[in-house]
Amino acid sequence: MKVLVFGAGQLAQMMYLAAAPLGVEVYAVDVVAREVINPVDKSKFDMSIEYAVSDVHVITAEFEHVPEDLLDMAEKSGKLHPNMAAILTGADRVREKYVLDTNNIQNCPHLIVSDVSDLDAAVQALGEKIIFKASRDGYDGYGQWRLINSEELPKLKHAFASLDLKRVPLVAEKMLSFDREISIIGARDAKGNVCCFDIAENLHHEGQLHVSVAPATAVSAAVQKQAEQIFETLANALNYIGVLAVELFQSGDELLVNEIAPRVHNSGHWTQKGADTCQFEQHIRAVLGFPLGDTASKGVTAMINIIGCTSFSRDLISIPGCHLHWYGKEVREKRKMGHINVVADSYRELGEKLLLLLQYLP
Ligand code: ADP
Ligand code: MG
Repeated sequence: MKVLVFGAGQLAQMMYLAAAPLGVEVYAVDVVAREVINPVDKSKFDMSIEYAVSDVHVITAEFEHVPEDLLDMAEKSGKLHPNMAAILTGADRVREKYVLDTNNIQNCPHLIVSDVSDLDAAVQALGEKIIFKASRDGYDGYGQWRLINSEELPKLKHAFASLDLKRVPLVAEKMLSFDREISIIGARDAKGNVCCFDIAENLHHEGQLHVSVAPATAVSAAVQKQAEQIFETLANALNYIGVLAVELFQSGDELLVNEIAPRVHNSGHWTQKGADTCQFEQHIRAVLGFPLGDTASKGVTAMINIIGCTSFSRDLISIPGCHLHWYGKEVREKRKMGHINVVADSYRELGEKLLLLLQYLP
């Protein structure tokens, strides 16, 4: 069987690697070059996107910012999973907030800013600590502006004056303090079966994910259940098929949705070694209508992103339970180059292994 993935980055690459043992071939679309390529060795197929769409069994996406004409073509073929509306919801923070609000899912207090003159009202309603997020095309903290005190407001107004806010509005979100950031990742299949992984705790630096630990420490059964209920409500509301990620802020037992990603997610990379079925295989299973796999955790795992560097020793894989996943991309500042999964039997042992790992990193 064949799956076509819009996007040809590391997520498509890891889907390819997880799909191969199932006898499933993965083709990727470089949506900028508009070419069909092999997502692992990047070789180009002598095949148009139109032909690939007609030839494969299922079409999916590794990121939400896929040009709409391509999504449209895929949707019309009847093979696109998750569906176009679900992908566009993840691609547009205004649509995303609408889905959260209409399904009574707690999220950050927010206002839509489609004109610089809305900024004063935003400060009035949300207070002076605000994160402005471009409604489209943001990732890893890009496309965000932080207001810490209202004296900085004129500077922001000046910066926003050059943006086309009518076309791409901003979502103004109250800057919240919370205990920690977590995510729940799961899959929903065509029959409506839902299956989630354990919650991961995510550590960010400058808006970018650096480390995930899963299962997150000290997650009560009530919190895991609450997260799974949020997941199921969203997946059902979107009539979702495939793997979906939900980023949450946790304060005590209270969960609030930060954002959703209609795809496999960086905070789910730990499942490659730390869960019975990894998120990439689970996604392939869900979109092709195969039975969903067991999501039980195998020990405790830390996933560490390797960001913007290539200078470390591969000997780190000598640490038991330590696995390197290299994406083979050209190095750039703040670019995710690969990640390391470290699996242990206990948090204590995980801590010991992470201390060993430190010796190999710059
Ligand atoms: P991205 O698409 O770049 O991941 P997010 O909306 O997840 O965008 O924001 C990136 C990070 O910024 C979050 O993981 C969190 O650390 C921080 N952040 C986002 N929104 C808020 C908020 N309302 N209050 C406090 N911190 C926030
Ligand atoms: Mg995020």
